[in-house]
Amino acid sequence: MRSQTTFDIQYAHRFYGFQGEARYLHGHTGTLTIEVEDSINPGVNMVFPCNEIQKTAWAVLKNFDHALVLREDDPLLPAVLGVYEKEGIKDGTPTNTMKGAAFENELCKAYPDCRLVVTKETMTVEGMIKMVYSLLKDKLNIVKITFTSGVNVASCEFTAGETKDRCPLCGITLVDGVCPKCGYKHPAR
Ligand SMILES: [Zn+2]
Ligand SMILES: [Zn+2]
Repeated sequence: MRSQTTFDIQYAHRFYGFQGEARYLHGHTGTLTIEVEDSINPGVNMVFPCNEIQKTAWAVLKNFDHALVLREDDPLLPAVLGVYEKEGIKDGTPTNTMKGAAFENELCKAYPDCRLVVTKETMTVEGMIKMVYSLLKDKLNIVKITFTSGVNVASCEFTAGETKDRCPLCGITLVDGVCPKCGYKHPAR
């Protein structure tokens, strides 16, 4: 069965080099839905607690929220960083507190201190799905991601990974056989 969670991400971006309005810097509220598939954990009668999917995903994805997303070759990137630098906000401000943990992989790199994500490819809805999957596939058994932004919608299905051992008391993934939330230990097999 599947559990799913949805949340909103507000961001600014542009399609560098694209022949159309999206070439200009603009913003969206995007809606991201992540579906996770596994067996039903009999202890809690859930695949996975939806608020925990959201917590796990948001810890990473809040880097995209209230952020600027630019492609690595976009000349706006050095220009914006130059302004942030001059203004003294490039390395953060005391009011920039909703920061996710920095990440970097083959598709994207987050700079939480200045609310910037630099991407390898243009951040279309399709591009976002690729990034989200690459950032979360090892943490969640993702089988489908849908991203809606304005009139653009894309979705992609993925093959479920191996079943994850989850806590029978709170439903979250065990880390080395121990529940990080309640301390439950998997009995020795
Ligand atoms: Zn757009
Ligand atoms: Zn637990």
